[in-house]
Amino acid sequence: METSTSHLILHSGGLRSIIATAELLQHTHQSKIAFLFINDGRPSTEQRLNKLKKQADYFHIEHIHVINVPHLYPLGKQTPQETYANLLHSQLLSLASLQAIELNANFLIWPALADNQTQAVAKITQQTLILSETLSLGQESDHDLEIQTPLLTLTDAQAIELGAHLDIDWTLAWTCSSVLTTPCKQCPPCKRRARAFRQAHVVDSLVLTPA
Ligand SMILES: [Zn+2]
Repeated sequence: METSTSHLILHSGGLRSIIATAELLQHTHQSKIAFLFINDGRPSTEQRLNKLKKQADYFHIEHIHVINVPHLYPLGKQTPQETYANLLHSQLLSLASLQAIELNANFLIWPALADNQTQAVAKITQQTLILSETLSLGQESDHDLEIQTPLLTLTDAQAIELGAHLDIDWTLAWTCSSVLTTPCKQCPPCKRRARAFRQAHVVDSLVLTPA
């Protein structure tokens, strides 16, 4: 049986990653899927990697790849936020693409979610296109890598609805940017997560889990 990776998911251990994984598993066998975690040095790295491993166990994903670039996030703290976000996306996506090519994967899954904000959607689409074109220049003609953004057209609430439909265990997804062992409920990612669940009328089992 052919068991090489065809789909590499750029995986953060978070909500978007778990929804994209569950969705992909609807039509792709788990032996074809691998997770890629990029340790960019952000404070919540340990929590996110921990959840990624739990998701891998849960979905029977055998292959986890980790790239360590811990200088990336701290470096960005010295740059204006929007410039940095663009730069970080490009860097992460480039690293992920190189890893995908090395694995001979056909698809790189980037579970970006822009909550229906037109500008953000356009920016992410543009970044994906530029990278795809750059890669096709450098690639052998017998191997194509396609970058897919399966959640990009969804709102945050629609993504949660999709996850609920796929019966996702939300306790496996980390979102908080703090270094606490339970979500702080105060940071911008925690607030965005709470809003998405509220709008989707879905209960977030992670936040209900006692400390
Ligand atoms: Zn938080």
